[in-house]
Amino acid sequence: MATYTLPELPYDYAALEPVINPQIIELHHDKHHAAYVKGANDTLEQLEEARDKEAWGAINGLQKNLAFHLSGHILHSIYWHNMTGDGGGEPLAADGVGDLADAITESFGSFAGFKSQLTKAAATTQGSGWGVLAYEPVSGKLIVEQVYDHQGNVGQGSVPVLVFDAWEHAFYLQYKNQKVDFIEAMWAVVNWQDVAERYAAAKERADVLLLAP
Ligand code: MN
Repeated sequence: MATYTLPELPYDYAALEPVINPQIIELHHDKHHAAYVKGANDTLEQLEEARDKEAWGAINGLQKNLAFHLSGHILHSIYWHNMTGDGGGEPLAADGVGDLADAITESFGSFAGFKSQLTKAAATTQGSGWGVLAYEPVSGKLIVEQVYDHQGNVGQGSVPVLVFDAWEHAFYLQYKNQKVDFIEAMWAVVNWQDVAERYAAAKERADVLLLAP
């Protein structure tokens, strides 16, 4: 029995048009995300085999593969739910996401400042990476992280609540080399309800995550 499984998409392939076309969603979910799930499961098996054989020379490479594939699986699992065809705009108290709106203002000064920072963080990734809004439990605030590949440049303990995939596979079939245009378009499909639920859950569990008050 595999440890990790590919989650179903919460919508059909065309649900995010015109921001993301169906071909991208199909390949991205069915091929790319699936490959990270398989990679994480395969790596766990290889680690077990290495332990059985006491093949400790394999550990360094396998630990890197585990971090890459597992982080890829987790980020994509969040990514699909962070988006909806009915999304976009700003989080507003009137929509029941006032706590998130307040946290963004408190953490970044303004929604506009936050939006520009996350857009820049995603758009200026060199090679492959992500722009991430994360809850940081020590400060109790939200931070933006610019993630290399799926796993680098991350602060330990932070919990991703909104993720922008800036890998070329996320946009190239539709946006070609215009990564900035893709990231800017992404704001029109953000599911603030989902982001707010993730924020509330992370905040609720902050003490558990850190074993501190
Ligand atoms: Mn991706």
